[in-house]
Amino acid sequence: MSETLFALVVALGLAVTMAAPAQEQKKPFDPVPENERNLYRFDFKKNFYADDAAWQADMAKARSQVEAIQGFKGRLLESPATLLKALEARRESEDLLIKLYAYGEFTSAVDTKNRKYMDAYETLRAEADARESFFAVELRSLDAAKLEAMVKREPKLSSYRFVLEAAVREAPHVLSEKEESLLAELGPALSSWEPALFQLTFDRTAFPKIEASGAERSLHLDYSTLMKDPDRSVREKAFREYYKQLGELSDLAGFSLVKEMQANNEVSKLHGFPTYYHEALFDAYLSRGELDNLYGQIEAELPLYHQYLDMKMDRAAKSLGIGRAEIWDMDMPAKGVPELRFTAGEGCREGLAACKVLGDEYSRELGKLLDPKNGRLDIVGGPNRGQGAFCEGNFAYFMDNYQGYLDDVATLVHESGHAIHHQLVLNHRGSLYFSEGPAYMTESFATFNEWLLRDHLMKTLKDEGARRAVRSQSLDEMMVLWEIARRAKFEMVSYDRVAAGEITGAGGFDKACEDTGLKYDPFFARYPEMKVQWMRKHHYWDVPGYYFNYVLAHILALTYYQRYLDDPAGFPKKYIAMVSQGFDRPAEELLKDFLGIDLKDPKVLQGVFAMMKRQMADVRADGAAAK
Ligand SMILES: [Zn+2]
Repeated sequence: MSETLFALVVALGLAVTMAAPAQEQKKPFDPVPENERNLYRFDFKKNFYADDAAWQADMAKARSQVEAIQGFKGRLLESPATLLKALEARRESEDLLIKLYAYGEFTSAVDTKNRKYMDAYETLRAEADARESFFAVELRSLDAAKLEAMVKREPKLSSYRFVLEAAVREAPHVLSEKEESLLAELGPALSSWEPALFQLTFDRTAFPKIEASGAERSLHLDYSTLMKDPDRSVREKAFREYYKQLGELSDLAGFSLVKEMQANNEVSKLHGFPTYYHEALFDAYLSRGELDNLYGQIEAELPLYHQYLDMKMDRAAKSLGIGRAEIWDMDMPAKGVPELRFTAGEGCREGLAACKVLGDEYSRELGKLLDPKNGRLDIVGGPNRGQGAFCEGNFAYFMDNYQGYLDDVATLVHESGHAIHHQLVLNHRGSLYFSEGPAYMTESFATFNEWLLRDHLMKTLKDEGARRAVRSQSLDEMMVLWEIARRAKFEMVSYDRVAAGEITGAGGFDKACEDTGLKYDPFFARYPEMKVQWMRKHHYWDVPGYYFNYVLAHILALTYYQRYLDDPAGFPKKYIAMVSQGFDRPAEELLKDFLGIDLKDPKVLQGVFAMMKRQMADVRADGAAAK
């Protein structure tokens, strides 16, 4: 998740490229100057394999490791020593597999036609998963007392305590081996056709074209461009037509979603959960009680969100010179806001400077990642490149096409945050295996870096207009909370209602969307057609039960930021200790033990809301001063 909205910057004598007034237009901004382009490419030889023979040697090694793990089948729990050996063998195997995975991902990202290494990895991964499934089955007979006794006899097992405790925790929800393998076989037939049908529903629909700024635009593919068109009537038409079109597709979309939720609920019931959503929370070490506690606090502060929307609408109306802004006016870029651009070198330097507060080790590792001479960055656009931006493990950073916008720099620090998290765990615990944890935790680490970047820019930019732009965009980013909370809540409510038989098709989803929408967002009352908005998030089909991770990650990153502002010297040390520790206990306990954050505390978000209110007051004052 790297949605960031701001624009920005310069500091410390770096060249700032702001949209200059027309009369003094300079040469066009070049995000990666011609003579530096070759620097921003991966050096696979240096960071991965000197040649194919070296890669093949690792593939062969990984295969023999998987083979050797087979030797533990049927005797995993025969003694603490055997269990330790088996776990260490698996950890070593996973460390090599992640390197082979990263190699496959990065080689295919820089050349989408080159699937050789990724395909080979995927085959190997499937083999490993199939051959190691006995771990889950044999660990089922472990219980808390047996586990304690084993750790007592073999203290080195304590490194794997969390993995073993997870098995104990899951045991009551695991069926017999025969039943589980039956469910695994049926899995694709039960729940892989629904996302495919949803996609097909869109693919075979000829969305109307709209004339805008002298070009034909697709209502579907170009919707966000249309919503920024200078012609207000084009924007309104795009909005009305788009929702009308979604309404026409909702029967099929509703059919596929209800079938997917029913199938998921049924399988979860077999595993002893009331709904699939409960199981998803359990897997993330969260409970419905914790989520309800957070939602209670988020909803109690809805007036703050509504004040923010009012302010945005006021500003949009003034900026457009109209009496009242409508929803199709809200995405128009504000007038007179400088657009800051950073070359790749500047972006890396700003990111590094922003994260300096995280301490020497963090800075050192981030510096190595972001130093283009090390060949761990590949960010220059071109033909046959993959999409988006990502890191794998601690290895490297890929971005399809760095353009130098503040969003791009935010993405850079976000993704680097993933890589350095893995690196710190490797440094401290000797293996990447211990850095795998719930998505909301790893995403919160990455997202916190975005806040450090915005904070750094707000404090170091020389130009007041630029600082104002960052302040305003920071506020927008904070306020995203209510939007993602509404979307996540729609899914939770829907799983409950599908389980209760209250949702049987599109009409039920419209109602759930409207109920959550009316509570959160005044636009739902003004534009009843928005009730089909649930069709705009493919996540409900593609990654069911995942959306709440965005809410948690957002809340946690903001909480770290607020605590950092309150205690700039003390907080980073505690935070980095937590990140470096890896996942050796449930996320909830990590947060409590290292940072004193208690997700069950009915006031846990108080500091965050106070920070948001200060931000809102600052942005209001900026607006008044700008008049
Ligand atoms: Zn991320």
